[in-house]
Amino acid sequence: MTNSQKCHRADYAVVGSGIAGLRAAIELSAAGSVLVLAKSDLSDSATAWAQGGIAVALSDEDEIGLHEQDTLNAGDGLCRPEAVALLVEEGPKYITQLIEWGTEFDRAGTKLAFTREAAHSRSRILHAHGDSTGREISRALLARAHTIPRLHLRAHAFTSDLIIEKGRVVGLRFLDETDGSQHEVRAAAVLLATGGLGQVYRETTNPEVATGDGMATAYEAGAVLSDMEFVQFHPTALAIKGAPRFLLSEALRGEGGILRNIHLERFMKRYSEAQELASRDIVARAIVAEMHRTHSEHVYLDMTKKSQEFLKRRFPRIYETCLNYGLDLATDVAPVCPAAHYMMGGVKTDLWGRTSLPGLYSAGETAATGVHGANRLASNSLLEGLVFGARSGQAMMQDAPAGKRHAGALPGSPAPLPGNSTTTPNNSSKAAAKPSPTCATLMKIRDVMWRDVGILRSAKELTEGIEQLQALELPKSEKPGRAAHELRNLHTLALLIARSALAREESRGSHYRSDFPYRDDEDLGKHSAVQKGSDVRFEAERAQKNQTAG
Ligand SMILES: Cc1cc2nc3c(=O)[nH]c(=O)nc-3n(C[C@H](O)[C@H](O)[C@H](O)COP(=O)(O)OP(=O)(O)OC[C@H]3O[C@@H](n4cnc5c(N)ncnc54)[C@H](O)[C@@H]3O)c2cc1C
Repeated sequence: MTNSQKCHRADYAVVGSGIAGLRAAIELSAAGSVLVLAKSDLSDSATAWAQGGIAVALSDEDEIGLHEQDTLNAGDGLCRPEAVALLVEEGPKYITQLIEWGTEFDRAGTKLAFTREAAHSRSRILHAHGDSTGREISRALLARAHTIPRLHLRAHAFTSDLIIEKGRVVGLRFLDETDGSQHEVRAAAVLLATGGLGQVYRETTNPEVATGDGMATAYEAGAVLSDMEFVQFHPTALAIKGAPRFLLSEALRGEGGILRNIHLERFMKRYSEAQELASRDIVARAIVAEMHRTHSEHVYLDMTKKSQEFLKRRFPRIYETCLNYGLDLATDVAPVCPAAHYMMGGVKTDLWGRTSLPGLYSAGETAATGVHGANRLASNSLLEGLVFGARSGQAMMQDAPAGKRHAGALPGSPAPLPGNSTTTPNNSSKAAAKPSPTCATLMKIRDVMWRDVGILRSAKELTEGIEQLQALELPKSEKPGRAAHELRNLHTLALLIARSALAREESRGSHYRSDFPYRDDEDLGKHSAVQKGSDVRFEAERAQKNQTAG
């Protein structure tokens, strides 16, 4: 620790205030003090952006076994069956608890209203305020967290690295963006729940915070990452020049939306019997093929069969956003194109969020629990964050009981926990906070990833992409700020995705190789794994037991 660093101690440190981090923190607060760090505002997360909903087998027509089967089918032979079983079996319990904590899901009369999405065999998607499900869940979890005295939330705290002693993670370092100060936190266990990495691609539905910091930090510390080649591309992001790729939820197609090419022909029949309700990878590839065929940069999503009244009620946020761009979904077709949306891979964990490093846990989109296999079923990721966030909290409490194991290792006298930062970053640090759009290196990484490591892949393009990424020189800085750390993290992860994609010589789920267009169960029905200093390897799966957290 340098002299200018402030030192704090907490029983548990959680990085991320999305669904996974908050759910874990609430669990952990039963055992000790918890410090939750978020690099932006507390509600700035993919969780708050989630639209369509959260999947759970709770409706009268549904069964847990059907949800399980749909998840396994979408995962294309690579789901960890034990993890999927836990997701679907424990999901109803944690959703019921969310409702008890004040989450207001939409209802039909007094009953919960379920909708159906692509690749689900039943209507099982709960939604809130039409298409603001994530915002409502985030609101309810934050409200709950704020009532717990032992749970401290700190915004604008950018976690840069982990502290490791004798092979064990014993804390982390963070940069306070409000004043530029450096901090060190010592904790009995650390959870990384920093969300996904969509910002590594030029076209993405993800918020700016999705720069994969947790994955890169864990990798640098020596943790095993898994399934990094599996990036899900959402088929329908709003394609308006110069505007962010706003997501047009799957639920729109679930409610009868039709895809048309620029000649206004319905085309999905040529690619899949399920047409618009085929899984995301199939629809995304079909759209790319149709865009190539018609030499266009988008296709259209047609909702004009639905009334304005229905669209306003069912999709208020989407309807309003499109209207702001001059599109009335009730009368106009919306230009759409695919965009990077979700990372199936990440920090490899067991069924309790334990990573390969003692003292380090991971949950939510940062983690690779194996529930999504090669392709995530729509609306399963909020559920994963909820279920495995809670489970990680339980394991941390059992593995590292508060105030016992690490009391001797804490430096000096305990410092008070940092309070809830309500100030926003000062102007100079705010300028450094966002990856600057003019940052040429960042733009280059994102372009290379979109062009060479995107929806359609081949050895030639992947090799070229890797060479270009390796040739990039990252700007050096004596005292790197958030933007420099994010750039380094994205560069590290870009190479890991590209190397893993090159190693997987088959097509499966979201990973499509034009030079290996078939699935190869014999040699590659395995998870990829990568660790600092080693090549990508493929690991045969050993069944994991769902023992108690301890
Ligand atoms: C537009 C959109 C729509 C979606 N719709 C759905 C849907 O309908 N249903 C569904 O199931 N899934 C949906 N998803 C996916 C889902 O929202 C995410 O996978 C899920 O919310 C991830 O939750 P999380 O807790 O893992 O991370 P997030 O919610 O992304 O939270 C990450 C947190 O980590 C913090 N953080 C990141 N890096 C650092 C750092 N270095 N230091 C400190 N803090 C850091 C961030 O500030 C943030 O608080 C959608 C995603 C997007 C982008």
